[in-house]
Amino acid sequence: MDGPPRRGYQSADMASRPFATLDELDVDNRRVLVRVDFNVPLTKDRRVRDDTRIRAALPTLRMLRERGAKLVVCSHLGRPKGAPDPALSMEPVGARLAELLEVEVKLADEVVGDGVTKLVTDARAGEVVLLENLRFHPGETKNDAKLSQALAALCDAYVCDAFGACHRAHASVVGVPELVHDKAAGLLLQAELVALSRLVDAPARPFVAIVGGAKVSDKLGVLLALVERLAAGDTVIIGGAMANTFLAAQGRELGASLMERDRTSDANTVLTKAAARDIHVVLPTDLRVGRGIEATEARVHHLEDGPLATDEMALDIGPATTERCEAAVAKAAMLLWNGPMGLFENPAFAEGTLAVARAVAACKGFTVVGGGDSVAAVQQSGVADRIDHVSTGGGASLEFIEGKTLPGVAALRKDD
Ligand code: ADP
Ligand code: MG
Repeated sequence: MDGPPRRGYQSADMASRPFATLDELDVDNRRVLVRVDFNVPLTKDRRVRDDTRIRAALPTLRMLRERGAKLVVCSHLGRPKGAPDPALSMEPVGARLAELLEVEVKLADEVVGDGVTKLVTDARAGEVVLLENLRFHPGETKNDAKLSQALAALCDAYVCDAFGACHRAHASVVGVPELVHDKAAGLLLQAELVALSRLVDAPARPFVAIVGGAKVSDKLGVLLALVERLAAGDTVIIGGAMANTFLAAQGRELGASLMERDRTSDANTVLTKAAARDIHVVLPTDLRVGRGIEATEARVHHLEDGPLATDEMALDIGPATTERCEAAVAKAAMLLWNGPMGLFENPAFAEGTLAVARAVAACKGFTVVGGGDSVAAVQQSGVADRIDHVSTGGGASLEFIEGKTLPGVAALRKDD
């Protein structure tokens, strides 16, 4: 992609990166506050349903323990609205972390306070304290200075490994590192920045971007940024409810399909810009449709055959479209995928998404998948280990690719 390169994130350019890495941080026998993203899904009986995000932080936590740090680990979990909510306690997360790290994890009963201070002061090298859900404190999402000061007082050094939270200017992500002199990016954060920077700063051609899913408004900004940065011969594949919005913009009548009608003019802008720059756009020519999201059977509908019935919904791309996607993906030298092609949670409408997942896995180029549901689809199809980089941050990866500065990364900037 063209545009100014964001210096400092590329692996090839590590000398000029704006933040310190773990190996530069003095942690021996020091209290290290590690902001992680343990915002994991829980089961109804409050156990960790998917521990991917906990596992993703293990390399950083293990390395810090081995080097004698006293770990003070913190994360948010869900949206507790600034007050304690027992259903969103970090307790099950702490239990899973203890199993994975094979070490005792002491759970604090609040975010900051005298009890927490004592727990941290008493910790010895290699011990792990987990703070209670950061969002139990109203100051977290407000980037409140008092909370930041209290958290900063708990540590001698700060590490951010919460890529998924770096696009939020919250106290634990921005306020604390601004107050702490010794700070660094964790291994996960660094890996995310290196992989995503490769897409932004050193794209290989043809570049293929696949954008789907349901968060149309959030992702239109990314599509607009992409068509401005991609070059002739690159391809943008549009699926999911995003594609419905584009098809509606072209005057297609799609019955009861999910779409964002008020964004059709942005969709047209994307198409106009892409055409002006000779960027290929793959939009569905056929769809799998059903009567409601619970439908157990899909009907293949060719758009040239006219409108959908008023109670029908477009819930997946059709077989001909899937083949066009596979062909484009096979040629990609670099590929970014964010957003499933359809309602893949329903097996009747999973085929397009799973076929794209297999095609991305088979692609010989450099492949990156981001977005919670897209990553779940890749895992469901059993091909996650054949993707070059599976991003842990949905919103953060999108903002990074759009070219925005992530506040959590900017706050790690070394003080001169
Ligand atoms: P991600 O989490 O990968 O960023 P999104 O959250 O934007 O992706 O979208 C994923 C959701 O979009 C999934 O729940 C999926 O079922 C839904 N979805 C995709 N296509 C459609 C469609 N055509 N109609 C309704 N829902 C869809
Ligand atoms: Mg999602």
